Amino acid sequence: MESRNVIIVGAGLGGLSAGYWLRQRGYAVEILEASAQPGGRTVLLERKGDRVDIGAQFYHSNFHNALGFIDAMNLGSTKRTISGNIRYALEDGSFFVFDRRNPYNKLLGFRGNLRMYRFILKFLLFGRRLPHYLISEDMPDWDSMEVFDGFTSPHDRPMKDFLVTVISMGGTSGLPEWMSYYCYMRHFSNIFFPNYITLTGGIASLAYEMAKHLSVRYETPVRKLVTEKGRVVGVQLESNGSVKKAGHVIVATTPPAAAPMMPEEMEEQRRFLESVTYVQSPMPIFFLDRPLDRNIWCYFNDPKLRKTYGYAIDELSKAPEMIPSGKSVLVGFGIDPLTLDLMDKPDDVVLKKAKEDIELMIPGSSKWIEDARVHRHKFVNALYPPGAHRSVLDFLEGAKTLRGVSFVSSVLCGEAIEAAMVSAAAAVRRVCGWGGVLTS
Ligand SMILES: Cc1cc2nc3c(=O)[nH]c(=O)nc-3n(C[C@H](O)[C@H](O)[C@H](O)COP(=O)(O)OP(=O)(O)OC[C@H]3O[C@@H](n4cnc5c(N)ncnc54)[C@H](O)[C@@H]3O)c2cc1C
Repeated sequence: MESRNVIIVGAGLGGLSAGYWLRQRGYAVEILEASAQPGGRTVLLERKGDRVDIGAQFYHSNFHNALGFIDAMNLGSTKRTISGNIRYALEDGSFFVFDRRNPYNKLLGFRGNLRMYRFILKFLLFGRRLPHYLISEDMPDWDSMEVFDGFTSPHDRPMKDFLVTVISMGGTSGLPEWMSYYCYMRHFSNIFFPNYITLTGGIASLAYEMAKHLSVRYETPVRKLVTEKGRVVGVQLESNGSVKKAGHVIVATTPPAAAPMMPEEMEEQRRFLESVTYVQSPMPIFFLDRPLDRNIWCYFNDPKLRKTYGYAIDELSKAPEMIPSGKSVLVGFGIDPLTLDLMDKPDDVVLKKAKEDIELMIPGSSKWIEDARVHRHKFVNALYPPGAHRSVLDFLEGAKTLRGVSFVSSVLCGEAIEAAMVSAAAAVRRVCGWGGVLTS
């Protein structure tokens, strides 16, 4: 690298992590961010003193890099492990409270429980162990297979509904029809075993603290990468077309946002970046006039019913210290592709649909609403249909040959905050030979 100046495009947790590690190593880093605040998909909403996570909802206890940053930013004392249970509203009108500490899940039935534990032993303990938040290995048999092709017996029905569909909804906010078996296996091990952790200042408080240590220029979208003799030498700004030069550029936006930045000679990269498909969702936020059951932090509709809003999180039960009013705030999660039609509909249409679906999960809730908002997420999580992991590996291989540029995105390591950080660690290693806490 000719100079120790690095430009990072995007101040999500991926871009911020890369910036932080590079700065620690003596590099001059400037982060250019399109929006007015850091954090990307970690978003905090404030209303009358209550603070609500309306982007990412929790860190997992196996997020080694994220937990390291939380401590480094002196946020350790704000960490809280989410306790409480998940309640399902079943098709027959009954409710089932799922307690993660109870090894027997009634919804799966006896045969389903046996199959699940056999599966855990076979694949996760003695079989192929997937590294957390890293896509490093081609597994063509899993990658080319649709997840339901792994559950073909008629006895698999409860597993398909209450394990596969629930993991797909919880892990990606998408229906399992768009998921490869490889993606399911990653989510299974990442969701099933760890504890969930929140921060009393909000999930985004980590990004806010990290940004204070870095030079971030907000409302500065980047239009294009600039190349000279086949090497990336800087970026062109959207606002006035001016060029900023650097020894290395790290592109840390979502792939669809990065695609138009690619210069002509990076056509192969542009094609991959454009191909990544995201769950899009208009997220309803309902401020209730009362607290709900403090022992339940997440409500699910019966996954068989495939409701547009598949589940909702009670932010009061999840993180009571964030909601001094003591009244529940429900954040609804729309399921792709059921939400696609709603993306460009007015807020009242979105809220009407969400209210109907959440009423099924929590009877009475539609009458307890004091105030409501909608936050539109264009990028929730990337979908990994069959073949997607191979495409990521091909992209990563091709990107190694490029000069002056690296890519950071949670997509490249399997989606989630930790994936963004592991991806950042790889980019930093490329720039200076060191980066991050390496995950197993
Ligand atoms: C509703 C929701 C719930 C989620 N729940 C969880 C969860 O519980 N746990 C978890 O681990 N993950 C969760 N995720 C996913 C997680 O938030 C992301 O995987 C992670 O934050 C991605 O980080 P990133 O840095 O790769 O990208 P992003 O956070 O998307 O950051 C990209 C940044 O690039 C900026 N940008 C875009 N274009 C330009 C441009 N042209 N010029 C300059 N800047 C640009 C954007 O404004 C943004 O700030 C959730 C996401 C959503 C939306």
